[in-house]
Amino acid sequence: MSTLTRTHFDRRRLLGAGAALAATTLAGCAGMAGGPSIGRVVVVGGGYGGATAARYLKLWGGKVDVTLVERNTEFVSCPISNLVLGGYKRMADITHSYADLRSAGVDVLQGEVTAIDVTARRIRLAGGSELAYDRLVLSPGIDFTPEQVGGLSAALDSGRVLHAWKAGPQTVALRRQLEAMPDGGVFAIFIPRAPYRCPPGPYERACVVASYLKASKPRSKLLVLDANPEIVSKKALFEAAFRNYAGLLEYRPNAELKELSGNLAKLEFEDLRADVLNVIPPQRAGDLARQAGLLNMNNRWVGVNWLTMESTVAPGIHVLGDATFPAPAMPKSGHMANQHGKVAAAAIIQLLKGGPVNATPVVMNTCYSFVSGEDAMHIASVHQYDAAEKTFKTVPGSGGVSAVASALEGRYALSWAQNIWADSLAL
Ligand SMILES: Cc1cc2nc3c(=O)[nH]c(=O)nc-3n(C[C@H](O)[C@H](O)[C@H](O)COP(=O)(O)OP(=O)(O)OC[C@H]3O[C@@H](n4cnc5c(N)ncnc54)[C@H](O)[C@@H]3O)c2cc1C
Repeated sequence: MSTLTRTHFDRRRLLGAGAALAATTLAGCAGMAGGPSIGRVVVVGGGYGGATAARYLKLWGGKVDVTLVERNTEFVSCPISNLVLGGYKRMADITHSYADLRSAGVDVLQGEVTAIDVTARRIRLAGGSELAYDRLVLSPGIDFTPEQVGGLSAALDSGRVLHAWKAGPQTVALRRQLEAMPDGGVFAIFIPRAPYRCPPGPYERACVVASYLKASKPRSKLLVLDANPEIVSKKALFEAAFRNYAGLLEYRPNAELKELSGNLAKLEFEDLRADVLNVIPPQRAGDLARQAGLLNMNNRWVGVNWLTMESTVAPGIHVLGDATFPAPAMPKSGHMANQHGKVAAAAIIQLLKGGPVNATPVVMNTCYSFVSGEDAMHIASVHQYDAAEKTFKTVPGSGGVSAVASALEGRYALSWAQNIWADSLAL
């Protein structure tokens, strides 16, 4: 259980437009848990997408057998992990058990899925045991392509260079590197070309690290080296935030990392040294999706049918979250993975029952970003399925961004996190 309070939870607010629509469609399922099972669903990956799908399959389907396989013993959230890095939160604040998901009827197994037999509809776990499924849900998140940068694989393997782009031990280790850095040292964050997990995340990290340095090691330097030509998300707001750290934080666009050698980072036109190198590597869908032959979009991401979230190369396998090739303007975010989980859960229940899937799903997203230990800002969007183009498109006039970052939005951001954890994990 997180040490954060549960008093501000309001699960209903978190359902979102897509969930509300699907809930309406499936209202008739509630309370029907007594009869024979309508099918067996195995969900791989207990992060934002997978946990949500597992929970809502039980909530809306009732009579579905749901097994969730996750390699980690606990859920550790990437959202809010930048605050842990800055020293404003602790790991316990972003860590949750799967006990409540178990209480909700999901059979949660800890284990590593090593293979999928698409024809036989079975998955294999490390250790050799197998699980049969009628429908498979994969939400494996991301893995990295460090081979694109000379020396990066070896640097990551040695633990000398950290990404901390999957919350957990790396978050703790990067915090230690930051704390150990002398006042007057250089901390460098390298941002890969988009698309990558959480578009505003690296800039949030820059602000939170700068906030810590400004208070604790003011003679230090923070270099933000962005492979992209400009700030990818909430540009004007982050530019304003960066101005608050003028003299300490230096942002450089078009600064793609080419090679690493010790503490020396080679860019296209210059070399630089830093005490701490935080390299966020280029990314692709998680290893399991690649191994199953599902990466049909640029050899990096999984193309999906947005009405069911089924892979376009392997119908019957529903893929969620960061692993998917995104619809236009759809971010790789925890909130969006949660929404994918609900679209998939609703569709799977209908498919198992032989009924029609919702033809007009709507999903939404809000991403908060902290610019200090307290102040945050947000960007929000609503995405409606377009039958003619077979993809989600943003709804004109919906969504928006904060006018300024504020402490009030910082409180909203923490409430958002509490709510989405409660919604995804049945807390
Ligand atoms: C620093 C940072 C800040 C962020 N802030 C925000 C934010 O404020 N708001 C927001 O909405 N999003 C945010 N995100 C993005 C968010 O974390 C991701 O978009 C989200 O986690 C994607 O969910 P997912 O289900 O696709 O993957 P994940 O949540 O990563 O879940 C994948 C799970 O699958 C498991 N897994 C993978 N392969 C296997 C296997 N073979 N066997 C068993 N288990 C397996 C993994 O252990 C993992 O638990 C942030 C990300 C970062 C890095």
